[in-house]
Amino acid sequence: MSPKSSSCPICGQASHPDTRPFCGKPCRDRDLLQWLGEGYRVPGTPAADEMKKSDDDGVDNPLD
Ligand SMILES: [Zn+2]
Repeated sequence: MSPKSSSCPICGQASHPDTRPFCGKPCRDRDLLQWLGEGYRVPGTPAADEMKKSDDDGVDNPLD
């Protein structure tokens, strides 16, 4: 647990003092986006409702 030898949890490179524990802003932003992405996947969101609706319309989902 020494702060001098920590590495970026995203890419594993040496962390930067300004963006610790990440190596830089890109990795810090990516971590944040992952966080937001998790939040969007909560069941019962309006987005999930929209998908159900289009399914009821008989639209085939090629990505499924
Ligand atoms: Zn990184």
